[in-house]
Amino acid sequence: MTHPFLDLAPLSAARFASIEDRVARLLSTEQNVLIMQGEALLPLEGAIRAAAGPGTTALNVITGPYGQTFGNWLRDCGAKVIDLAVPFHTAVSAEQIRQALAEHPEIDFVSLVHAEAATGNTNPVAEIGPVVREHGALFYLDAVASVGAEPVLVDAWGVDLCVIGAQKAMGGPAGVSAVSVSERAWARMAANPGAPRRSYLSLLDWKERWIDGGRKALPHAPAQLEMLALEACLDRIEADGLDAVMARHARAAAATRAGAVALGAGLEPYVYEAAEAAPVATTLRAPAGVDAAELVAHALASDPALPLAAGGGALAKEMIRVNHYGPDATPGTVRASLTALGTALTEKGLPTDIQPALRAADEAWR
Ligand SMILES: *Cc1c(COP(=O)(O)O)cnc(C)c1O
Repeated sequence: MTHPFLDLAPLSAARFASIEDRVARLLSTEQNVLIMQGEALLPLEGAIRAAAGPGTTALNVITGPYGQTFGNWLRDCGAKVIDLAVPFHTAVSAEQIRQALAEHPEIDFVSLVHAEAATGNTNPVAEIGPVVREHGALFYLDAVASVGAEPVLVDAWGVDLCVIGAQKAMGGPAGVSAVSVSERAWARMAANPGAPRRSYLSLLDWKERWIDGGRKALPHAPAQLEMLALEACLDRIEADGLDAVMARHARAAAATRAGAVALGAGLEPYVYEAAEAAPVATTLRAPAGVDAAELVAHALASDPALPLAAGGGALAKEMIRVNHYGPDATPGTVRASLTALGTALTEKGLPTDIQPALRAADEAWR
């Protein structure tokens, strides 16, 4: 008897290339798209190490923990790094980027996270892209937490290196990811003597061995299960329509936000402005005197399948995350998450109004 995911026919180069082409369509780009066979950290790190070096001056925008990681990689590559950090409860503005570029005309690389699932904010890339393009810097964007939840328009926004992963709003697997690469980015990498070569991190190796050869032969065995899962995930997005998938995420965010406020008990959106809140996940500030991690553990005890988490690291005490993405971007999951949080708060001695919260959520969903 054949096993459904062990006894697989080989995955052809043509099929691998067709999956890349579908990811390119998802990102509205004519650029090369490389699928990288690892979690999104692989292309995120590979793209920075390829494009940045001792001659680089990078503007590194920090709106959450990933921005901090990118700054560390950039410094490790020998780049001069100018950090632009904004409080995690807001977004960066195009004007802040414009000012930073004007103060440091030598900046030739800008790294930005589009949406941060970890902090629940999203940055206005449509406004920032033209500012970066006008300055002439290479534009690196982490769109892992935005793709599928809100528009990601690589060519229209002038993004040179855009990294995605399937595990958030695309509702797919972790373990396979992709990066789009502009002609300018390829040129920058080719001129960088420190860019990884003969390495699993190397984008240039893939260009040489895969793209330049017309995508006829894969450089090494594809991660077959992950590729098939990514393909199935694209099938599902294309069947539902990307716009419908994004609308579900926007509704889930609006409903969670409205419902959490209506619960009372002092629960507040962590990101003050709704326009700066990411559609992929909603972060909430625990009421004064309530430990967020304890509250989440309590809520999960009633239903461990809910997409609730406490903030990471230093945010664990104050931040509650409702990860309403992928298959969890539904009214049912939003309602169940609000009910579990409301019940846990009531049991902690902070009475909540669950029915009005659910009504507010339903209304916001519509
Ligand atoms: C989720 C996410 C990633 C991928 O990291 P994991 O923690 O492995 O899921 C990368 N960047 C951003 C902005 C993310 O939200």
